[in-house]
Amino acid sequence: MKILLTGGAGYIGSHTAWAAVDSGINVVILDNLSTGILENCPPQAAFYEGDVGNAALLDRLMSENKFDAVLHFAGSIVVPESVADPLTYYRNNVTNSLTLIDACVRHDIPKFIFSSTAAVYGIPEQGTVYEDTVTCPINPYGNSKLMVENILRDVSASCGLQTGTLRYFNVAGADPQGRTGQSSPKATHLIKVAVQYLLGKQDHISLFGEDYPTPDGTCIRDYIHVSDLATAHLAVLEALRKNPENLTLNCGIGRAFSVREVLETVAKVANRPLSIVSAPARPGDHPLWSQMRTGFGR
Ligand code: UDP
Repeated sequence: MKILLTGGAGYIGSHTAWAAVDSGINVVILDNLSTGILENCPPQAAFYEGDVGNAALLDRLMSENKFDAVLHFAGSIVVPESVADPLTYYRNNVTNSLTLIDACVRHDIPKFIFSSTAAVYGIPEQGTVYEDTVTCPINPYGNSKLMVENILRDVSASCGLQTGTLRYFNVAGADPQGRTGQSSPKATHLIKVAVQYLLGKQDHISLFGEDYPTPDGTCIRDYIHVSDLATAHLAVLEALRKNPENLTLNCGIGRAFSVREVLETVAKVANRPLSIVSAPARPGDHPLWSQMRTGFGR
């Protein structure tokens, strides 16, 4: 099996690239290295530096290789940034994905696996969200991902492109063998920020919002380990091969932890106190969104 993996130098993409190589899959990576790091990619994978929005490059790659599937990780992922600069998010996440999907259709690539997000649910009425819970994003990031989900649904109905959509909750951790990790220097995610503090790379940790309607007032998130998420992608690929249907799946663990709980755990593991500074809630966040959890089996 041969797959094209966009964003393979990024956090989730590189873990999935390693998992695919480990299981004997032939991997070609396309990444523009805007946030990704080449050293995170498995050396067994062919690497092309370039943009998902570059139709000529996609045509070349897809003419030279017969791909069984495209796994599309490349995209912009920071919610507050999407609020400040929506056009960049729609360009990177929607326009470029459209170019990629169009190339897949023209080159008869049968399967497409898409990195989506729990942010497509917006403000759910209940804490637990299932895959059939109504989608209603509250920020440009979630909107951009839902737009691509809708494009894939329509393209699949019209020409049979088989799709797997994984709606990620919060992703954490790193490859247990240390071959890749969350290395993007600009990352703003909580655990990354806490570890950067421990490494002396920043002098405090900002705690964004402490009066949410949660037990300790801080936001609650459902964190999934990145290696489990990488395995989930390969499981979806296998399921698409065995079954002609499309799949949309929540990817979390079904249990949530507050920002305070996460920071307390980091301090406990490091056996050091953290310098935590209260800061205003971030734009694009919402109190009820903080109570979202993954639902399974409905
Ligand atoms: N957070 C925080 N300080 C930070 C980074 C994040 O208090 O330096 C909070 C953030 O407001 C949210 C939670 O931690 O409630 C998880 O944020 P993250 O950026 O990791 O993921 P998101 O849920 O926004 O995708």
